[in-house]
Amino acid sequence: MEALIGVLPGDGIGPEVMAEAQRALRFIEKKYRHHFVYREALIGGIAIDSQGHPFPADTRKLCAEADAVLLGAVGGPKWSDPDSNVRPEQGLLGMRSAMGVFANLRPVQTHPALYAASPLRSERLAGVDILVVRELTGGAYFGRKERTPDSATDVCTYTRAEIERVLRMAGELARTRRRKITSIDKANVLETSRLWRSIATELYAREFPDVKLDHMYVDAAAMHLLSRAADFDVLVTENLFGDILTDEASMLTGSLGMLPSASLNAEKRGLYEPIHGSAPDIAGRGIANPCGTILSAAMLLRHSLGLETEALAIEQAVITAIESGCRTADIALPGKSPVSTGDMGDAVLRALDTQ
Ligand code: NAD
Repeated sequence: MEALIGVLPGDGIGPEVMAEAQRALRFIEKKYRHHFVYREALIGGIAIDSQGHPFPADTRKLCAEADAVLLGAVGGPKWSDPDSNVRPEQGLLGMRSAMGVFANLRPVQTHPALYAASPLRSERLAGVDILVVRELTGGAYFGRKERTPDSATDVCTYTRAEIERVLRMAGELARTRRRKITSIDKANVLETSRLWRSIATELYAREFPDVKLDHMYVDAAAMHLLSRAADFDVLVTENLFGDILTDEASMLTGSLGMLPSASLNAEKRGLYEPIHGSAPDIAGRGIANPCGTILSAAMLLRHSLGLETEALAIEQAVITAIESGCRTADIALPGKSPVSTGDMGDAVLRALDTQ
């Protein structure tokens, strides 16, 4: 297959982890005889420095044309003055809204080889395989905001159409998994949640009778994610709840450096990025864990290009590399020297080669 992939390395460790993800994609291209064209563009702080804007016109054009976009990370202390009116994160928000990516997918799987890196006891981690689907372009983050010296307001609005499209995407994804959805809200308090819950009940009964639906309040979900995470399959929720629960869920796997994400629009064109930031504290030292970005490339193959076999090949290769003991500092085994970003990428390529 032919595809145009937008490559946005960004700031900090972004370019370091992106290089390894691209090596994995090139390997897949060769092995499975695809032809991917990679076009690189600037985003975030580096774009502010060279073009005065965190999401310049060239990058916007690339995002409109590409079949999928792979992003490293944006931001860093150089651009973090809260009083500045251009900031790297505006590039991310601009890109999400330009691409219309309304559903953010974060898979959270635990693996015995990484139990020790999690703050939770291993008996809480066995068999965890969750996909969190977070609504990304509505709710309080995008509502009207007001501020006086003594009060502040953030309006949270959701329309039926916004709720239905993300619930539908979660339903389709549940059909590729264990067919269980937990819809998370705060329907005992919030009007938006009551609308969310009633639409979820109707829509899943009508369109997804083969998928089992449960509703859960967000406070209970926060607790159950730590006490019985293995019971969940797909979690679907609104923007603010999803933001918090996805970070909480990430701790099940141990390191931020391991986790990928995808943000999809209705045509499944997507933006793929590791969940971590630009890690300025370790940038430029060649020690960042590239697995979250490599696994984001696997999600790109699966969701935007429909290449499931190739996606699974990368995912399996990452597990094999980690099981072989090859680990960056964030997931290193006690008493064993950590490897560099490039060595970790090499180990993934070796594992791909021997599959
Ligand atoms: P961060 O995710 O960059 O780092 C948090 C901690 O995790 C740091 O100690 C870092 O060294 C470590 N870490 C992160 N990724 C790692 C990896 N791949 N391998 C090994 N260790 C890793 O979060 P932060 O420090 O709060 O933010 C730093 C900058 O990144 C800020 O400017 C923030 O705005 C930005 N940020 C960007 C994104 C994004 O691009 N999507 C997301 C979050 C934060």
